[in-house]
Amino acid sequence: MILVLNENYEEKQFENLVNWLKNKNFELHVSKGQNSTIVGLIGDTSSLDTDMMESLDIVKSVKRIGEPYKSANRKFHPLDTVIDVDGAKIGGGNFGMIAGPCSVESEEQLCTIAKRVKESGAGFLRGGAFKPRTSPYAFQGLRKKGIELLLAAKAETGLPIVTEIMDISHLPLFEDVDVIQVGARNMQNFELLKELGHVDKPILLKRGLASTIDELLMSAEYIMSGGNEKVILCERGIRTFEPKTRNTLDLSAIPIIKQLTHLPVIVDPSHATGVAKLVEPMSLAAAACGADGLIIEVHNDPPHALCDGQQSLTPEAYDDVARKVRAILPYSYKIGK
Ligand code: PEP
Ligand code: MN
Repeated sequence: MILVLNENYEEKQFENLVNWLKNKNFELHVSKGQNSTIVGLIGDTSSLDTDMMESLDIVKSVKRIGEPYKSANRKFHPLDTVIDVDGAKIGGGNFGMIAGPCSVESEEQLCTIAKRVKESGAGFLRGGAFKPRTSPYAFQGLRKKGIELLLAAKAETGLPIVTEIMDISHLPLFEDVDVIQVGARNMQNFELLKELGHVDKPILLKRGLASTIDELLMSAEYIMSGGNEKVILCERGIRTFEPKTRNTLDLSAIPIIKQLTHLPVIVDPSHATGVAKLVEPMSLAAAACGADGLIIEVHNDPPHALCDGQQSLTPEAYDDVARKVRAILPYSYKIGK
């Protein structure tokens, strides 16, 4: 971290700053020029808040040289992390296909979809039991019963299950869930993230509706700093001024994130676009730009889905997308190549 000091500071202020930083065990490199003084901090600055530093009277500006995330940083962990759930893998050249309904609605619905997506090559079954809905009057999910139905579908198909947690108090219900999803709305629920840092299961962390890439990585860092290094990141679109799609799919985030971190990054074209017809082109684009997988909503009867039918693929359409995606994979972008 580099601090540029204000001109005409008082020597006492300078001494206070230097002593304070030395007490924090930083090695300092001070360069006094004719017009400005620059202080270079050597050491782990991840606990220093740049806004707080900038607010000091003596400080004119602050520049961070390294990234504030450590566990998620590719610099300290150059090899790709591979998430392995009983042989179903995501990352490090393994393309993960997660598919299933937005919400678990019934045993018949879920098992029908699970079998179909498995036939199309999906390696994981998704389905919301606890649903974060904008309206309190909309379907809120089957909750505990939904998780039981997911486990029944897993028993029938062998597919590992991915489902969203909305509150720490529900954690005991997730004991047999394979991958715990943290939805966009909870990406910065730091208490939840801390708790998931103590869980021995992969966490699928979705990018917040208005979150930057660095904020996503810092949220991953919350989980990892607690000891759980099994994090899968998910780009699911961010909110912009464009109303033609539900969100704007930020595909350039994929190669950027993959340069910054060793964690796998998948794409959710369903929530990113909100339009079933756009799921295929965006899935192909995600595969081409180096994503490690896709999470796609599939429903056996989209017009009658209890949630997100407009963006759900039929099993036939999913089969088509999965086939085309596989054809693209040999040409996908790889960092460093
Ligand atoms: C979901 O995947 O069911 C979901 C609610 O997605 P998001 O958190 O990305 O909106
Ligand atoms: Mn949905």
